[in-house]
Amino acid sequence: MHTQNCPKCGTAKTKLAPRSGVTDRLLGTLTIYPFRCQLCTHRFTTFLGKLKTNPRRNYERVPVQYSAQVRPVHDPTRRIVVEGTMVNLSLRGCRIRTSQRLPMGCHVMLELQSGEYDLPIMIDEAIVRARFTDGVGLRFSSFLRSEESRLRRILDLRLPDHAI
Ligand SMILES: [Zn+2]
Repeated sequence: MHTQNCPKCGTAKTKLAPRSGVTDRLLGTLTIYPFRCQLCTHRFTTFLGKLKTNPRRNYERVPVQYSAQVRPVHDPTRRIVVEGTMVNLSLRGCRIRTSQRLPMGCHVMLELQSGEYDLPIMIDEAIVRARFTDGVGLRFSSFLRSEESRLRRILDLRLPDHAI
């Protein structure tokens, strides 16, 4: 099995990235495709020698089952807490299943209780990017480096090594 390792951090947790712009299209005709490292976010191109479809996502979401608490950043009462279950996760976003409502574009803080760590993981800021009948999709916009490295460790354990 051949995998494409990240030239920056060395992991095999990489995936084909969406192509954008003229350069990517030209390189694509030569089967030189962009990849995105799922653990350090580095983007690089590599020659594959075979045609690949253009993927939609930069980051693959891994399935998880973590209890999560979401709080709007701009809440003067500081009392709004949306309880839910995180059902998937990447380095840049997640999906939360909840019966409570959050508006599109709302800036939130996120706290999740993972199985891997005793202390909850805190995400300073995320944005509601999608709404579903059973929850919301969040994109992470800001978190502490220590928290990012804990997320990275969870993903390292759960992401597949991508065969090309
Ligand atoms: Zn990397």
